[in-house]
Amino acid sequence: MEKYKCKSVGVIGSGIQGVCIGLQLIKKGIPVTIFDRHDPLNSNFNPASYGNAGHFSPYAVLQFNRVDILNDIPKMLFSSYGPLALKWNYVPKMIPWFLHYLKNCNKKSMLHTAKYMHQILSLSNDAYEEIFKDIDTTNLITKNGIIYVWTNKNLKSRKLEIQVRKDLGIEQKLLNQKEILELEPNLNPVFDAGVIYEKAMHARDPHGILKEIFKLFLKKGGKFIQENITSLKQVNENETIIKSLNEKYNFEKTVIASGAFSKTLTDQLDEKIPLDTERGYHVHFKGKDNLISRPVIFLDRGFGMTPMSQGLRAVGTVELGGLNNPPSKKRINYILRCAKELLPQLEKHEDEWLGFRPTLPDFLPILGPSLKNKNIIYAFGHHHLGWTLGAITGKIISGIVAEEKTNLDLSPYSSKRFN
Ligand SMILES: Cc1cc2nc3c(=O)[nH]c(=O)nc-3n(C[C@H](O)[C@H](O)[C@H](O)COP(=O)(O)OP(=O)(O)OC[C@H]3O[C@@H](n4cnc5c(N)ncnc54)[C@H](O)[C@@H]3O)c2cc1C
Repeated sequence: MEKYKCKSVGVIGSGIQGVCIGLQLIKKGIPVTIFDRHDPLNSNFNPASYGNAGHFSPYAVLQFNRVDILNDIPKMLFSSYGPLALKWNYVPKMIPWFLHYLKNCNKKSMLHTAKYMHQILSLSNDAYEEIFKDIDTTNLITKNGIIYVWTNKNLKSRKLEIQVRKDLGIEQKLLNQKEILELEPNLNPVFDAGVIYEKAMHARDPHGILKEIFKLFLKKGGKFIQENITSLKQVNENETIIKSLNEKYNFEKTVIASGAFSKTLTDQLDEKIPLDTERGYHVHFKGKDNLISRPVIFLDRGFGMTPMSQGLRAVGTVELGGLNNPPSKKRINYILRCAKELLPQLEKHEDEWLGFRPTLPDFLPILGPSLKNKNIIYAFGHHHLGWTLGAITGKIISGIVAEEKTNLDLSPYSSKRFN
């Protein structure tokens, strides 16, 4: 095994980024300890990496920093039946994020985001396949593609998305309504057309996959400590300190992989990082996962359904409201209405869940060293695509920690862009 200089690493967060980073570091022979306030092997573990829609979406290069979406925001916000909602008490706190968002809502920034999302997304499935060779994925993954459907109402946006993907060489097969119904005969035909990404796959149990990766990490000698981390700092070139309420831990390097909660830690490092959250929800329809054979996303509604082990998972909406507001019953009702619109045979639901997408206003993650504390490394801000990007993030961040050379251009993911 190659010898790396780094003697020890602490990773804060055992979501999909944290466990994949831990695994890649331990594979290099670098001692790692992952910290989380929740135990990933416990059934009450429920961060974004638990409750997401389970799509591995290497095609999803276009994000929400787009003029067409910006123009639609007022209409969406004031509609009671829209995919976007706001907790009005959070508006003042959201202003810095929103000002950055406005700055990034133009064609040039949109294409910049697409280009650099594509750089990492195009490597994402291969990075997972490497991990899957070492874990038991029986009943955890289905390789049957992912379908998006839409009505003819927003065709200008659909055309833009199709063109950008075409320009980047992403495989996509456009479908008419009849072709969609041949693939998914139970769907109510309230849509006009769509697209299938035939090579896309989905998780039948995201938490199950995360647990398998975490167990492999432990088996290879990785350590886990259940602690809520309250502060951290770099002491000198060879030492960082992580503190919980009662304990103090020393590592040569520390990685912040705390998802939407990362800002409480980065704020201590004299950097202004406009990380915020896009809240999302899910419910399960138990025993109804057999109604569709693959994830189906209704683009006009900003919602989708994924057949999973827990049942049919109906997931979606974006709610801007921070980390502390209570869940919104209205958002759950919205998802229920959308699910029953596509599958009227659905009845009772269970397991209402709220989760926090970690989102930066230019819709690129931050992957790289802190500007003023080189031994503290950032790995957060994966917004709607953090599940897809877990394994490749593990490879990139472990390479940064180990000071390996890379052919990737990592400069667009630096926090420098906000400072
Ligand atoms: C509704 C919804 C649907 C989604 N669907 C998809 C999808 O289909 N495909 C996709 O690619 N992505 C999807 N995503 C996005 C994806 O789930 C997230 O981007 C990803 O899970 C983020 O992973 P993470 O490891 O960065 O953060 P998290 O999963 O949030 O994990 C962070 C961990 O850090 C811990 N932590 C935080 N602060 C501290 C602290 N101070 N001390 C100790 N521990 C701490 C938390 O307890 C948590 O376990 C979806 C998200 C949502 C909400």
